[in-house]
Amino acid sequence: MRKPFIAANWKMNKILKEAVEFTDDFKLYVKDVKDVDILVCVPFTLLSGMKKEIEGTNIKLGAQNLYYEDFGAYTGEISAPMIKEFAEYVLIGHSDRRAFFNETNQILNKKIKKALEHGLKVIYCIGEVIEERKQGKTKQVIETQLREGLANINDLSNIAIAYEPVWAISRGDPDIPAATPQAAQEVHSFIREMIGTLYGKETSQQLRILYGGSMKPSNVKELMAQEDIDGGLVGGASLKADSFAEIVNFRK
Ligand code: PEP
Repeated sequence: MRKPFIAANWKMNKILKEAVEFTDDFKLYVKDVKDVDILVCVPFTLLSGMKKEIEGTNIKLGAQNLYYEDFGAYTGEISAPMIKEFAEYVLIGHSDRRAFFNETNQILNKKIKKALEHGLKVIYCIGEVIEERKQGKTKQVIETQLREGLANINDLSNIAIAYEPVWAISRGDPDIPAATPQAAQEVHSFIREMIGTLYGKETSQQLRILYGGSMKPSNVKELMAQEDIDGGLVGGASLKADSFAEIVNFRK
């Protein structure tokens, strides 16, 4: 009932020439895919070029961040209306933003509201760091990230959640293991339960919850077989057209 959703997060990678090369190959590899939503979240500098590249394809475009004001004296920032000119989606709350740019749940809440106000679809990223997991605080952290990040947001129809245990994110190291499918499923099911408590059963059943953290061609099938895993947010393995296409084509 929930359509699988596989999203790339390129982070701070690729210049336009590389993005075009990727897309020329990738669009051929996935041209027949109809039963999976495919998204590529790119640096701001690639939005304009990528919009042209993906026109007429089954690939959707997203940004990786925004600022929560519409315009003004915020040097270096990019607003929701600016993104909306090019892209349909935006990632909010990625652990890189939380860790390196001090983005709190309160700031992220403002960003999500602003994105929705301008008709952008949001992937809200949540997940615990290793110390929190070791202390048995995973569910507590997830609950707070959901309650505070989604505070006063009544409609989740344009939001997907990405559960990304920070300890499983590769950060360029292909040897970092993903969460086991069982460990990921346990948290995904908790997230759905929490959303059920906050928004009701129907919303919780419709919400797509993506897994992120070292997803790759070799583990995508097992992860996607879990009841509450509806997709993936893919970092390292999304940088090459063939490996990202293999993930998108996980059913083959
Ligand atoms: C990410 O940072 O969103 C991510 C999932 O990265 P990776 O797939 O490389 O672990």
